[in-house]
Amino acid sequence: MVHETFYVEIHPIHPAMNYRPLLSATLFVSLAPLHAEDPTSVSDAGRWSKEQVQGERPAVVTPPGHTTAAKPGAAPSDAIVFFDGKDLSKWKGRGRKDGNDAAKWLVKEGYMEVQRGTGVIQTRDQIEGDCQWHIEWCTPAEVKGNSQGRGNSGVFIGGYPEVQVLDSFQNDTYPDGQASSLYMKSVALVNASRGPGQWQTYDVICIREKKGAEGKVIQPGSITVLHNGIVTQFAVQEGGKQGAGGLQLQDHGNPVRYRNIWARKLVVPSVAAPGK
Ligand code: MG
Repeated sequence: MVHETFYVEIHPIHPAMNYRPLLSATLFVSLAPLHAEDPTSVSDAGRWSKEQVQGERPAVVTPPGHTTAAKPGAAPSDAIVFFDGKDLSKWKGRGRKDGNDAAKWLVKEGYMEVQRGTGVIQTRDQIEGDCQWHIEWCTPAEVKGNSQGRGNSGVFIGGYPEVQVLDSFQNDTYPDGQASSLYMKSVALVNASRGPGQWQTYDVICIREKKGAEGKVIQPGSITVLHNGIVTQFAVQEGGKQGAGGLQLQDHGNPVRYRNIWARKLVVPSVAAPGK
């Protein structure tokens, strides 16, 4: 397929030029694209062979369902679900002497809630390589305490700093300790907090460090965070040195709730530039 090229003749504007040629030039410019070939045949324009289109066509994924305050949307079709509101079978807590390492947080009405003093809980499985995590959380509707003492918990994706969970709605604290900051590492770009008692979301994109043939870092580890759909950390080069990691949730003594936790492996395809 060969592109048809349109040449537009531009007439110099000269005081001697009368009104009529200027009008006809304008019409020519605006109408010319309408005479182009059928746009469907122009779209591939020979840059991709039929075989390439079939071979490199992105996998079809059913996206997440719509989330409401009352109910989270379904996880996307290629997600690994870690908590769907029913039980903590995919989580473990502090191991005890008798070998029982069950997570001791409360599960109720589709969410889990920190039980003060029971300690952090973590996923039994890890995700290998680059990944995307979705976590929904809610700080107590009844506001108690201030600064770091209000609705404090935290999200730790293996090998990265804590993504702080805090009631940061009209609650000042040190900026690198507020919600969606990487604790003591990186201040959130904005404060996108919803009020206490409202469900909030984190979507976290973890890129793990890659090394070339001679052990040289060719891609640094980085973390990107969206808080309630707003970018709050963008490709911050903190962590990501280990190849895999699970998710750990912090018991900071406040009854913070979590629901709808899933992850996806990110596969960055080695697609050559079209036509190469
Ligand atoms: Mg915390």
